[in-house]
Amino acid sequence: MKKHNFFAGPAILPAPVLKQAAEAVTDFEGMGLSILEISHRSKPFVAVLDEAESLVRELLGVSDEFAVLFLTGGASSEFYLTAMNLLNEDETAGYIDTGAWSAKAIKEAKLFGGVEVVASSKDQNYNYIPANIEVPSGLKYLHITSNNTIFGTQFKEWPETDAPLVADMSSDIFSRRLPLEKFGVIYAGAQKNMGPAGVTLVIVRKDLLGKVKRELPSMLDYRTHIAKNSSFNTPPVYPIYVSMLTLRWVKEQGGVEAMEKKNEAKAKLLYDEIDRNPKFKASVEAGAGRSVMNVCFLPTNPDDLEPFVEAATAAGCVGITGHRSVGGFRASIYNAMPIESVQVLVDVMKNF
Ligand SMILES: *Cc1c(COP(=O)(O)O)cnc(C)c1O
Repeated sequence: MKKHNFFAGPAILPAPVLKQAAEAVTDFEGMGLSILEISHRSKPFVAVLDEAESLVRELLGVSDEFAVLFLTGGASSEFYLTAMNLLNEDETAGYIDTGAWSAKAIKEAKLFGGVEVVASSKDQNYNYIPANIEVPSGLKYLHITSNNTIFGTQFKEWPETDAPLVADMSSDIFSRRLPLEKFGVIYAGAQKNMGPAGVTLVIVRKDLLGKVKRELPSMLDYRTHIAKNSSFNTPPVYPIYVSMLTLRWVKEQGGVEAMEKKNEAKAKLLYDEIDRNPKFKASVEAGAGRSVMNVCFLPTNPDDLEPFVEAATAAGCVGITGHRSVGGFRASIYNAMPIESVQVLVDVMKNF
């Protein structure tokens, strides 16, 4: 039985994407070769890379002011690369601390320059997005985690600041429209909402680069990868290919605007049941920045934890156990998750 996949990441991919991805492993576009055994400099792969970039640009409305890169090292490497490439030792960047991933980004940035944590929701185990944040002026950039995968919170409004935003969008990239003019860097590990693990998308405003005094190793300098079109070294060919197929699928679905509507409908279906059903309670209050991607909830009676996971599993719903730092349940309902699967989970809740 095909499962309803609520895992947080690596996560669900669209069924037609998996089918095409599987075919390309044995015969890529009728070449008589696997995608896994061709050169990253071959014409067919360069075409994949070009299409992936133009889909990113088209879906998010990314202008030529920005470079679009496909790198390795995960979002975790971007925690230090963003600071290393943008922040001088005598400058200060602002960080909003909304969860474990933000905290990691803060730790890495401190290796390279001044870090001011301008707001934090750590006091309540990160179960809300700070409101009315007063951001000081003159920061080099302001770093946010747009969607907090573990805690189920998401920025609904972008903080007011005169600095460019640097955003970790690993778990909500391509889930909604973005005002690109507010951003200096957007980065995302692919494995939640864009493709398989192994590639990291980085969208970076080119005029912000080349301003740090430190020497940068070639591989850690965004400018290297811009100059070489993400092929300075061998890029992660297969993860890029599968991400490209996923972006094609997003486009076929009507683009990011259509995804946004579907994602809101899916999240509403689930939150409405959580709020209605006395057996459950939401981890994040309405209005506190409930994530449309990762829906975290708790059993009213802690003894219901195991039985509910069992009931969900019996209905084919997998991956709903919450992160150990939050407990309870977490249903990740990324772009590729059909509303029919969310309905299956909601029916399990109703009958529980
Ligand atoms: C998963 C995740 C990360 C870590 O990504 P890696 O690619 O494993 O380094 C970082 N930030 C957020 C918001 C995530 O969800």
